[in-house]
Amino acid sequence: MTYVITERCIDVKDGACVEVCPVDCIHASDDDRMLHIDPVECIDCGACVDPCPVDAIYAEEDVPPDQRAYTEVNRVYFQDAAAARREIERLHPQAGAETHLTGTCARTDGAVVEPGAGSETVAPGHG
Ligand code: SF4
Ligand code: SF4
Repeated sequence: MTYVITERCIDVKDGACVEVCPVDCIHASDDDRMLHIDPVECIDCGACVDPCPVDAIYAEEDVPPDQRAYTEVNRVYFQDAAAARREIERLHPQAGAETHLTGTCARTDGAVVEPGAGSETVAPGHG
């Protein structure tokens, strides 16, 4: 068994888990968007779970169904880090220029939305 870091670590990466791991099996480089637990080195002590501020770490058998892809992401990372990064990007795309909202209503299809467009205005009756 191993412990697994899941999606909530993405873009958080505060390293609280690294501080407490007795076998130094939690790794990432500056290029990574999350940290990963080496399933071969992990001794299943569970020490990393509570310090995580976003509750991203689970024992392998407790990983929620919608996070199970991250069990593989953690494992693959130690064999092919680039493949793990691609999978993370697929599972949780980084906000890019198109979808990074900086202000008012933005659409990814390029359409300009006029204020009030799309809402019916009912003219008052003439009495
Ligand atoms: S369970 Fe223990 S050994 Fe495994 S990653 Fe967490 S702190 Fe490290
Ligand atoms: S403590 Fe949690 S959020 Fe912080 S690096 Fe570890 S897994 Fe990621």
